[in-house]
Amino acid sequence: MSGESVVLAVDLGGSSMKGAVVTEHGETVAAERRPTPATGIVAALIELLLELEATALELGHTVIAAAVVTPGIVEESSGIVRYASNLNWRDVPLLELLGVRFEFPITVGHDVRAAGLAERLLGAARGSDEFVLVPIGTGVAAALVTRGDTVTGASGAAGEFGHIPVVPGGELCTCGQLGCLEVYVSGAGLARRYAALGDAGLGGPALSSSEIVELVGSDPVADEVWADAVRVLAQGLAIMTLLLDPAVIVIGGGFAQAGDVLLSPVRAALAEGLAWRDAPEVLLSTVGTDAGRIGAAILAFQVAGRGSVVNGWPAASAVAA
Ligand SMILES: [Zn+2]
Repeated sequence: MSGESVVLAVDLGGSSMKGAVVTEHGETVAAERRPTPATGIVAALIELLLELEATALELGHTVIAAAVVTPGIVEESSGIVRYASNLNWRDVPLLELLGVRFEFPITVGHDVRAAGLAERLLGAARGSDEFVLVPIGTGVAAALVTRGDTVTGASGAAGEFGHIPVVPGGELCTCGQLGCLEVYVSGAGLARRYAALGDAGLGGPALSSSEIVELVGSDPVADEVWADAVRVLAQGLAIMTLLLDPAVIVIGGGFAQAGDVLLSPVRAALAEGLAWRDAPEVLLSTVGTDAGRIGAAILAFQVAGRGSVVNGWPAASAVAA
């Protein structure tokens, strides 16, 4: 369909930037993914937005807004990215830098909080005002939603679930602390721990986290690191449950692809870890790994004053396809 109002949505990550042109019906009519350069990230981002804009115009659409979501500590009100370690950014006035280049309104958001928005409006947490999204990929973060609002914290740094030191005196995290949750429960952590046990004569070659998951049940080293991951994740989720009392916990990111190998033991361990109260429902994300980009599209329609169009969008699996 041509002649629609569309937005440009970009999920800027440490390794890749994923952009899309999304219509008011939630249809992705163009998508572009490219590596994030080590330097000149803002220039590359502007180039990507210009290309997406040109594609939208070629298709006969009108661009009404754009949104860029980034990792790190993001001050949404000013559009300043205070700190993003994997972009090597400190106090980057992203909104201002983008705003001078484009005629339409632009907004800057946080990738995980945007993913939480997508999960709430279109995904597994649909309709819930009290939920937590925990995307588990290379690292771990969380979008904390209470009363329908996402908790940002005093400095935009809320939700660093991966750096809760769940294991006292545990293994060293990249952040400098010992025993952080993501040392045990992340793609990088799983691969590192599997390889380390291999060096001790127990395991095999360096494998990716998805390869390790496939070995669960048939490889004792995979079983061991997976059992640790499940136990530590359940401990973290118990802390989260006691603090926030969510109705639903949604697990997203690459880890969610483990499916029931993850879900069943985590549900059991969480229930066991909560002695006096019921565990919240634990579900897998239905928005998937494109959640940040889909959340960015929602933010863009909101900044254009058209946030209600999302009510008519299809369920997340259809949008993400
Ligand atoms: Zn840490």
